[in-house]
Amino acid sequence: MNLINFTDKGLCCPQGDFYIDPWKPVDKAIITHAHSDHAYAGHKYYLCHHHTKPLLQLRLGDNNYESVEWGETITMNGVKVSLHPAGHIIGSSQIRVEYKGEVWVISGDYKTEDDGLSGKFEPIKCNTFITESTFGLPIYKWKPQQEIFENIINWISRNKENGKTSVLLAYSLGKAQRVLQHIKDTTQDIYVHGAIWNAHEALLNVGWNLPVVKRITPDTPKEALKGTVVIAPPSADSSPWMKKFHPYSVGVCSGWMQVRGNARRRNVDAGFALSDHADWEGLLQSIKATQAERVFVTHGFQSAFSRYLNEEGIAIAAEVKTEYGSEDEEAPKQEVDETKDEL
Ligand SMILES: [Zn+2]
Ligand SMILES: [Zn+2]
Repeated sequence: MNLINFTDKGLCCPQGDFYIDPWKPVDKAIITHAHSDHAYAGHKYYLCHHHTKPLLQLRLGDNNYESVEWGETITMNGVKVSLHPAGHIIGSSQIRVEYKGEVWVISGDYKTEDDGLSGKFEPIKCNTFITESTFGLPIYKWKPQQEIFENIINWISRNKENGKTSVLLAYSLGKAQRVLQHIKDTTQDIYVHGAIWNAHEALLNVGWNLPVVKRITPDTPKEALKGTVVIAPPSADSSPWMKKFHPYSVGVCSGWMQVRGNARRRNVDAGFALSDHADWEGLLQSIKATQAERVFVTHGFQSAFSRYLNEEGIAIAAEVKTEYGSEDEEAPKQEVDETKDEL
């Protein structure tokens, strides 16, 4: 039996009697981050990072939560468990599991570029590494975030000059906070959708210092929105909710925008390839840095990516089927192929 097993409930550590990001109710769950496909309801006990806790409370309500600092070790039935920054969204953590000298690391979702909010991704030496592969193809190579944010800011200025509202579509957990941090000085008021507002409030309540935003409500006067910036989750796109912003321009912030034509296919005005996941190089470098002799590849391009790792002799790699990959940027079909009907 392995230290970590792949079961129909999720990644299981039988020795420690806990699961990592299980998708069915269990007694003890260790949660990498608060995206809904990694953090399910119904567990009797949740262990997560301090910053993840308020986000779980927001999404799942009151539960038996225990939160820890990065690097803090807790022992569960002789198994040493510690959380380490994954750089994906606020609070996102890799899980290090050690028993009798053997070390496994479960990455959760991760990115290697430091976004200033999520903690800097830290490669951890291990025998076995379980990695995501959302963008595990060589075509995915991100530009430095500074460059992308400059493009976004220029786009906002152009819209303002043309009397348009800039509607930025960004996932409410992670991407929205990251974008907001960089565009906070572009207009006097920044408006947000209710889903983003809720996450914002949850973080403010536990002491995060975030830019001031206004919530869009049915009472928000149309005139007040002219030339401003609105941040909304992708689901708001093509909904009647958007009508209020006319005239406006829509920009999508997603790694899928790296592929030429995706912005056009989605019928949006601008695509910014800003991702909260590692790109191809980021994945490879991170895997090499762990010095793992064995790698399991979860959600994303897992078969292509694990084949590459094997062929290059980087590690013995195998793909694993999980239920992850329906949240944030992990659903390319929906995100990329979806054609908008009408506004
Ligand atoms: Zn995620
Ligand atoms: Zn994921």
